[in-house]
Amino acid sequence: MTAGLDEFDLIRTCFAQRQKHLPSSSGVALGIGDDAAVLNVPAGRQLVLSVDTIVEGVHFPVGSHPADIGWRSLAVNISDLAAMGADPMWFTLSLCIPEASRSWLDAFSEGLFECASRFGAALVGGDTVQGSRCISVQVAGSVPAGAAVTRAGACEGDVILITGSLGDAAGGLRLLQDGAGRVGPGADVDRLISRFQRPEPRARLVDVLRRFAHAAIDISDGLCADLGHVLEASGKGARIESGLLPVSEALTTEFGLPQARRLALAGGDDYELCFTVSEGDVEQVVDLGARFDIPITRIGTIEAGSGLHCVDEAGATVELPASGYRHFRKTAS
Ligand code: ADP
Ligand code: MG
Repeated sequence: MTAGLDEFDLIRTCFAQRQKHLPSSSGVALGIGDDAAVLNVPAGRQLVLSVDTIVEGVHFPVGSHPADIGWRSLAVNISDLAAMGADPMWFTLSLCIPEASRSWLDAFSEGLFECASRFGAALVGGDTVQGSRCISVQVAGSVPAGAAVTRAGACEGDVILITGSLGDAAGGLRLLQDGAGRVGPGADVDRLISRFQRPEPRARLVDVLRRFAHAAIDISDGLCADLGHVLEASGKGARIESGLLPVSEALTTEFGLPQARRLALAGGDDYELCFTVSEGDVEQVVDLGARFDIPITRIGTIEAGSGLHCVDEAGATVELPASGYRHFRKTAS
């Protein structure tokens, strides 16, 4: 590593020192500094693991603020745990950066630890190398044994629910790419851009998911793509109504309703949860969401068969966008 900070200075000052004082309740028997971490999984619980890598120019624009990159690198992983109904516990960080800039690293770790403390996850190790900017976080959470929620449990007749609003992050990214300055600043523009820059995983909903959800997924690639994964894993089909899609006022104001709905169907990066519950549980689930200030909206129903069908207010079929982003997909073969 260059620019004054070598690999070990950097690990110590930017990561190890910031994660020093862990309560025994964190389950960390041995954290950063040895060849590996040693962790105590609480009795009666199962470990839930997930890893997500974010690459500059693919998952976040070149020149993104380092604090936002730090936040995102952990937040997208916490979102995967939330979709499984798992409580976050620990994470490791594999950091690949072109140079050891002190100011970049300070801001990165500030965003990272802001997210870590918000969601109660402890950094227990990692790896630091030089190269093109790419950040990989592996997160570990836990669920009471047998309580994990998967993509595979959706039942015919289940109601499909969505937290928060959809399409905001995709709208925000579009505004960023178009140069928000040109649009002119404003509360709506700021709100949409910050939904992209600072995704808020719905971790507070894990108890509700464990109690009520038959299947769940987080929306990282777009509703159509991600709900499609649930349908495939569950061996079911679904009918949703475009008029029920939760779109924010900010998105509708900036893009108009038709485009807002298209973004809600196809846009990624919202990190909302999509899950299915029995009709009889909907009211209670919506009430519980409200206690955490999380709006929950029904958008459709699980049906027998396969595939996703979307209709508008008049009952006409809505053409669905092609499914989400795929790495390595060739445009022509
Ligand atoms: P090794 O060569 O044995 O893999 P490293 O020199 O890569 O060890 O790492 C030394 C210690 O610092 C390890 O405990 C490792 O988990 C930790 N570490 C390295 N990079 C990071 C990082 N970016 N964040 C947190 N911990 C890190
Ligand atoms: Mg190493």
